[in-house]
Amino acid sequence: MVTSDFGVESVYDAIVVGSGAAGTFVALGLSGAKTLVIDAGLQFRDATSLDGNLYDLRKRQSLFAETVGTRFESLAWMDGPELSPKVKSPLLRPVFMRPPSAPDVVSADFVPLLSYAIGGLANAWGAQVYRFDDADLAGFPLRAADLDPFYDEITQHIGISGREDDLARFHGSARGLQPPLELSAVGREILDRYTRRAKVFQRQGIYLGHPRLAVLTRDHGDRRACTYDNLEFFQPRLSAVFTPAFTLEDLVRRGEIEYRPGYLVETYRESKDIVEVFARPLEGGEHRVFRARKLILCLGALNTARLVLHANSDIVSRLPLVETPFRYAPLLSLRRIGMPLERRSFYSQLNLFYVGPLWPEPLVGIIYAVDGLLRSDFLFNFPLSVRGCLAAAKYLLPAVTLLQLYYPGEPHPSNTLGIDAKGNLLLRYDASPAGGVETHILRVFRRLGYWSSRRFVRIPKPGASVHYGGPLPMREHAERRYETNRNGLLTGTKAVYVGDAAAFPRLPAKNLTFTIMANALRIGRAVRADLVR
Ligand SMILES: Cc1cc2nc3c(=O)[nH]c(=O)nc-3n(C[C@H](O)[C@H](O)[C@H](O)COP(=O)(O)OP(=O)(O)OC[C@H]3O[C@@H](n4cnc5c(N)ncnc54)[C@H](O)[C@@H]3O)c2cc1C
Repeated sequence: MVTSDFGVESVYDAIVVGSGAAGTFVALGLSGAKTLVIDAGLQFRDATSLDGNLYDLRKRQSLFAETVGTRFESLAWMDGPELSPKVKSPLLRPVFMRPPSAPDVVSADFVPLLSYAIGGLANAWGAQVYRFDDADLAGFPLRAADLDPFYDEITQHIGISGREDDLARFHGSARGLQPPLELSAVGREILDRYTRRAKVFQRQGIYLGHPRLAVLTRDHGDRRACTYDNLEFFQPRLSAVFTPAFTLEDLVRRGEIEYRPGYLVETYRESKDIVEVFARPLEGGEHRVFRARKLILCLGALNTARLVLHANSDIVSRLPLVETPFRYAPLLSLRRIGMPLERRSFYSQLNLFYVGPLWPEPLVGIIYAVDGLLRSDFLFNFPLSVRGCLAAAKYLLPAVTLLQLYYPGEPHPSNTLGIDAKGNLLLRYDASPAGGVETHILRVFRRLGYWSSRRFVRIPKPGASVHYGGPLPMREHAERRYETNRNGLLTGTKAVYVGDAAAFPRLPAKNLTFTIMANALRIGRAVRADLVR
């Protein structure tokens, strides 16, 4: 049986589904409208035991439950696919948990990460932020100038650290940035060598510099600056690292939105001037119907597309599925082998851009320090016994950084998203890009004293980038079914909008979440303007 919020007072101006990067910034843009955010909204438990520096804490007490997990969660990858450290971490598990009533994913070749948590996937993100420029926005009905005011506003709102350096031409405006994070020894060493031999790197198409990070280096409102405690892999909601849940909670405190966690939205229906949203409590029980003049879908690119197909009872269509594939490899500084691990460190160290003849558009690299990882993460990384791998990890970790290189994602007829009769996601991903530029970059680093080998390059399974887009592309003239206009309005509807990266027609190599936020804020404002028109 379906119960309803009938009556004029229960009709909202806008319903936003989802509280991730997209949903939160759409809600912010709707300020002034009567807005309801409906969300699965799984919560985190507090872990006050992780208050302090990881290494000091480890000396004083066992952190087994917080780092490995009472059910050995962080070792679960041993008989499954290789996972990012954050995905394995026990306290971060709510980010990736699937409520039993949520739809399943049916796919042999694409393993996505989906979130049903308050704040979504960005509870675990690396906080790397990039502005898309006009070239990155090729294929979008948007120019950089359309997004710049929103990037600027969000920079002030969330606090971004970084610096104007050799990467300024890729990162764009440095207005309002906090100073960059301190580098750890291994990051400083790489940047020093780059600076001394910048011409050598640049002749090979390689540019290096500080990343832009949504991580505070100065206090910002009631959030504290980064303390370099090496906890990013284990502790959710570190005050210095922005997560959309901070903004969402602020909007709730200020009475600007009504937030209903604990509901799984199952479908929606447009009738006359109202959109009805059908949601079921996660705990089970009856459906509820929520009603609004506008509906903005922000369930994450894949779940948004799934819901749209489901609302259209369409099990036939196959929509474009796009991600930014990546590869990674270790870089070993021979002179740092056996040195002590850095006690104070943040894992993101440097950004790298490749611009040259080997790829038609810029590629984006991130160089990570690994001081905060568990030695067990390296159990099988060396051609040694398990005990030998642990010993090697002890001596090698202070000398190791990881280079991760992202490629752009284009729609391809072999990479598709659909649903089955039960509403489960069907994902097919047969075409991956050729890659190969990482081999060139490793060769250049080798000449500068960083050992690596193409044999150590890892190619994660499709889906591992967690940067998804493509299925409901925005177009200048949206005419076809399952396209949106530049403000996110879905073709064939009067009031259903797509607020997340489902509407990104393609993805440049740059991480996309800053653009999800800027675009969501822009869409929220446009919907708000439409409501008062
Ligand atoms: C380990 C990791 C590192 C990352 N690092 C970076 C980085 O450094 N830089 C970067 O740009 N990006 C990064 N990302 C990607 C980034 O986190 C995502 O792009 C971004 O969070 C997506 O936001 P979203 O709002 O579109 O979707 P999500 O975060 O997936 O939010 C979806 C929301 O919808 C809700 N929801 C879903 N289905 C339903 C339903 N049926 N009913 C009700 N609610 C529902 C969920 O509860 C959630 O609140 C990273 C991701 C991971 C996992």
